[in-house]
Amino acid sequence: MLRTLLIALALSVSPVLPAVAQDTTAPAETATVLAPEPAAAPAAQSPAVQPPAPRETGPVAVPRPSEQAVRYHRSGNVLWIVSTLWGLLVPALLLFTGLSARIRTLAYRIGRKWFFALFVYLAVVAGLVWLADLPLAYYSGFVREHQYGLSNQSFGKWIGDSLKGLALGALTAPLALWVPYLLIRKSPRRWWLYSSLAAIPALVFVIWVSPVFVDPLFNKFGPMKDRALEARILETAGRAGIEGGRVYEVAKSEDTNAMNAYVNGFGSSKRIVLWDTLLGKMDDREVLFVMGHEMGHYVLGHVRNLLAIAILLTLLALYTVHRTSGALIAKHRRRFGFDELGDFASYPLLILITGVLGLLISPLLLAVTRHQEHESDRFGLELLQDNRAAAGAFAKLQEQNLAVPYPGTVYKLWRSSHPPLGERIDFANEYRPWETGQPLKYGEKFEKK
Ligand SMILES: [Zn+2]
Repeated sequence: MLRTLLIALALSVSPVLPAVAQDTTAPAETATVLAPEPAAAPAAQSPAVQPPAPRETGPVAVPRPSEQAVRYHRSGNVLWIVSTLWGLLVPALLLFTGLSARIRTLAYRIGRKWFFALFVYLAVVAGLVWLADLPLAYYSGFVREHQYGLSNQSFGKWIGDSLKGLALGALTAPLALWVPYLLIRKSPRRWWLYSSLAAIPALVFVIWVSPVFVDPLFNKFGPMKDRALEARILETAGRAGIEGGRVYEVAKSEDTNAMNAYVNGFGSSKRIVLWDTLLGKMDDREVLFVMGHEMGHYVLGHVRNLLAIAILLTLLALYTVHRTSGALIAKHRRRFGFDELGDFASYPLLILITGVLGLLISPLLLAVTRHQEHESDRFGLELLQDNRAAAGAFAKLQEQNLAVPYPGTVYKLWRSSHPPLGERIDFANEYRPWETGQPLKYGEKFEKK
């Protein structure tokens, strides 16, 4: 769970966050290289004094999901159930077959000292879990994505990224786990509390370091290539009180056709990142709205909020382990091959308990992230006051990423970190308090144009 939390935080704090568009009153875009202003043909020959195309402002219809998108959604649900069960089955097998205990014994033979034995044990377990997950990961992350035209990745890049992830996990897991395992032995009654306290600086560090040292292991990050658009984004960021140099473009087009943008990092590493795939497919107004949404996450402190939630979740998860593991170990000690939680062969039990807990509480967690996303949409709309661009950006996200606009309730509760795109399009079409002189919810958070 710790790792899940870390990954969830470091990677997903705000992915898929479309944002805001700008240009409150301007009748037209100034120098829109990418933005095809509808209907306005690049007409005549006189490039001299062309009147600006009228800026489209009408509502955008929610696209009907294609037959392919519906299939992708339905098969994705089956895949989610299978991989969720698999994620519980693998640690259960490690435990109930006594394999975990045997790996621990072997690890002591190789590592000798406790810490090195823990290191060896976690590396072996990480390798085994990686192998057990490989067929499903290959199908869902590579084969299927290619079948649906969502992936551009070569097999070499895919397996390389997967191995890098494995190496990263095997190296960092001992750093994350030696503290709780040490504390379980030193303080059997309060270890969950002390470990959660120790997790706070660790979480902050991981969030701070991820964008700078981890993310570049997988993709290239740099400044935006379209300098004119970048200037408009930075001008908008300036209005929202965000300093320049915090906007990055990442070359995701070697991996995927899907579009995204996100905010991550902490303190000096805090940043907004745009996938280059998004830049290729959205016009400038839509990109600006997406950035406005991301700026909402930034200005409204959503990374910090999620950090606080992660700390609470860590506390809850470790306390649950503390309260439930004793009875489970007492009942199955002979099969498990260990008789106390302080034996690091209990690691798969930790994964199992926190995995079940995660399933139970994820609807609550996702409700929080959906709320944040909605508020970032609102922030983006208020900042840029370009409903058309917002709704258009969501419509493109839906079509390009093969999403369905209104998924069912169970999907929404257990899987939607963002409001369904149909709801976001509806909101983007309707929300315009500035037109009737009503106060803006976040009007104090940015400078008016
Ligand atoms: Zn978002």
